[in-house]
Amino acid sequence: MAPEAAARPTRAELRLAAREQSRAQRRGAAKAATRTALLRVALPSVAALGVAAAAAVSVQGQTDQQHAEAAGRAPRSAPDSPDGATARQAATQALAGGDQTQASRGDTRQPLAGTQPTDAPGAQPTATPTAQPTVEPAKPKVVMPVARHGLGELFGEAGTHWANRHTGIDFPVDGGSEVYAVADGTIRTQWNPFYGYMSILKMDDGTEAWFCHLRAYKVRKGPVKQGDVIAFVGSSGNSTGPHLHFEIRPQGSGPVDPLPWLLANGLDPR
Ligand SMILES: [Zn+2]
Repeated sequence: MAPEAAARPTRAELRLAAREQSRAQRRGAAKAATRTALLRVALPSVAALGVAAAAAVSVQGQTDQQHAEAAGRAPRSAPDSPDGATARQAATQALAGGDQTQASRGDTRQPLAGTQPTDAPGAQPTATPTAQPTVEPAKPKVVMPVARHGLGELFGEAGTHWANRHTGIDFPVDGGSEVYAVADGTIRTQWNPFYGYMSILKMDDGTEAWFCHLRAYKVRKGPVKQGDVIAFVGSSGNSTGPHLHFEIRPQGSGPVDPLPWLLANGLDPR
């Protein structure tokens, strides 16, 4: 073979390299094959560059899935899990155009905010059809905040001891009565001259339940389960006697009427 011919790959060698790349892709070892092909041909062809891009995207997709798993968003991730599908979808979109991957990731986050019923008092968070199952907030399972039924002042009523209108509902129960976490969530507590000792439960979907005029806390901070005793009824703050003042505040919203919220969860506190 003449020296000139040896310095450049022949058509036959290029075809051989392309076939090797194709086989390697089917084996799922596109990256390694690309490297081998580049070494042998010593001339990056358009086809080889394409394979290299595909390999990079494939690795990126796997990395995304690993991040998702590390972040705990896909604790039951399996090859056929929705999260795996998401990673594959992201990889596919990256092949079509790199920017679409970012757009896709942004879209999966939107349902988190979109499920908050900010304009419908008492409405339940509903699943958005486009929501990814792994990031969709779980619908809270709800229990009553106190054991005894019966309501005092309702939501929206005008009262002499409220600055504006009543922003919750009152349970006229005895001082010292147990107050329960209405759903799984995280507790924080604070003093407010109006609400007195108050406990705030942030639920998984971002909704907050406020328990006010408390006498004492059982849980000052941290995660609780639905039904846990979190505090005891009192009359602290701007209160005329022992009762539990209960508010529901969907994420990004002011207080909504807790009565339809409870009714929609199958609970009638009346
Ligand atoms: Zn009240």
